[in-house]
Amino acid sequence: MARLVMKFGGTSVADLDRIRNVARHVKREVDAGHDVAVVVSAMAGVTNQLVAWCKDAAALHDAREYDAVVATGEEVTAGLLAIVLEGMDVNARSWQGWQLPILTDNAHGAARILDINGAELLRRFKEMSQVAVIAGFQGLNKESGRITTLGRGGSDTSAVAVAAAIQAERCDIYTDVDAVYTADPRVVPKARRLAKVAFEEMLELASLGAKVMQVRSVELGMVHNVRIFVRSSFEKPEDVDSRAPPSGTLICDESEIMEQQVVTGIAFSKDEAQISIRRVQDKPGVAAAIFGPLADANINVDMIVQNVSADGLTTDLTFTVPSADYERARATIEKAKGAIGYDRLDGATDVAKISVIGIGMRSHAGVAAKAFKALAERNINIRAITTSEIKFSVLIDAAYAELAVRTLHSLYGLDKA
Ligand code: ASP
Ligand code: MG
Repeated sequence: MARLVMKFGGTSVADLDRIRNVARHVKREVDAGHDVAVVVSAMAGVTNQLVAWCKDAAALHDAREYDAVVATGEEVTAGLLAIVLEGMDVNARSWQGWQLPILTDNAHGAARILDINGAELLRRFKEMSQVAVIAGFQGLNKESGRITTLGRGGSDTSAVAVAAAIQAERCDIYTDVDAVYTADPRVVPKARRLAKVAFEEMLELASLGAKVMQVRSVELGMVHNVRIFVRSSFEKPEDVDSRAPPSGTLICDESEIMEQQVVTGIAFSKDEAQISIRRVQDKPGVAAAIFGPLADANINVDMIVQNVSADGLTTDLTFTVPSADYERARATIEKAKGAIGYDRLDGATDVAKISVIGIGMRSHAGVAAKAFKALAERNINIRAITTSEIKFSVLIDAAYAELAVRTLHSLYGLDKA
C-alpha cells in the first residue's frame, strides 16, 4: 500500500466519458489499497477558450483578473471527477488551490509554488480513506490572498508539488503519449521507449522540445526527488494488471538507473535562428554590450560561439535565438551598434539544432567526436557546436535535420531491434 499522485491532462478529461474512464483508473488504485491524490487539468480546449476571452475583453488586461478567469477550467474538472467518483462509491472531495492552500509568489500568470500544506489531505487519507481531487494549475498568492496560475502546462507542476508535499511514493502522469522515447517517433520510426530516464536528462529533453511535461515540473521533481512516471491515459483501466509493473517511463534519480547508456536520447528543434556579428571589436565589455540588451528585451540566447581574434582587434561572434525572436534580436543588436562596434550582421532562420543527451557522457570520452565524423560522412555541415556535461548540440541546415537525427540515433545504438 502506497501513497500516489495521479495527474490527468486535458485530453484525458475532455468529456464526461473520459472523466468516467479517469475515475475507473482512480478506483483501480484505491481498490489496490493506495491513498490517492488526483490532480486534473481543464477539459481539452477550455483554457485556450478562457485565454481568448480575456484577450477579447481587453488586449491589455490585469494579470490578476486573467488568473481569476483561466483558473476556473480546472475547478470544473475537479468537481466533476469528484461527483463521478462518489457515484462509484469512492469517497472523494475536490480541492481548489486556496483550500489546501497551495501558496505561490505574486507572479500572476506564471506563479511559482512556495509551499503546499498537505496535512489535511493526509488526515483524510488516514481517517476516512478519502481521495483528494485537486484543481491543477492554480494557487493562492501568499501576499494578497488572490488566486494565481502557474503558466501554461502548469498542472504537471501542481502534481509534482503535491507529490512532494504528501511524500508520495510516485507521481503518475497520465497523458496522451505512452512513454518518453529516445527520439521523436514521428521522425525516427525506430525510436524506442525509455524505461527510465534521469531527471537531468529529462530536463534537457523537455527543454529541447520533447513536450511530454512542463519543464518546471521536472525541475521540481529533481529538487524534491519525486519519482515521476509517464504513462498512457488511453489504456483501459480494466486492462491494467495491478500486479505487473505498469508500462511507461520512470523519471528518477540517476542512482536508480542500473544500466546507464552513454547516450539516452536525441532531440532537435527547428525553432532556432542564427545571428552572426562580423568583425566585432575584441575588447572587454563587448559581450555585455551585446547580450545585455538582448536580456533586457527578454530574448533567450542559446548557443554562443566566439572566436579568438587573430589580429587582437576584431573577431566574429555567433549565437542562436528562438526563431520567433529573430527580427527583434536583429533590431536590438542594430540599435546597440554604436555601443558594440561591428562591421556587419548576418543571420539565418533555416537552421536546426540537434542535441545528443546522456548522463554517461560524463565518464566517456569521444562521444561528440563520433557524431562529427558521422555527420561529415553524410556531408552535413556544422555551423556551431556547444557542449555541456551531459549534452552536446550542433547547429546545421534545417533541411538536414531529420537525416541528422536518424543518423545519430543509429550511431549511438538507440535503434530498436
Ligand atoms: N489547463 C492549463 C493549460 O492548458 C494547465 C495544464 O493543462 O497543465 O495550460
Ligand atoms: Mg500538459
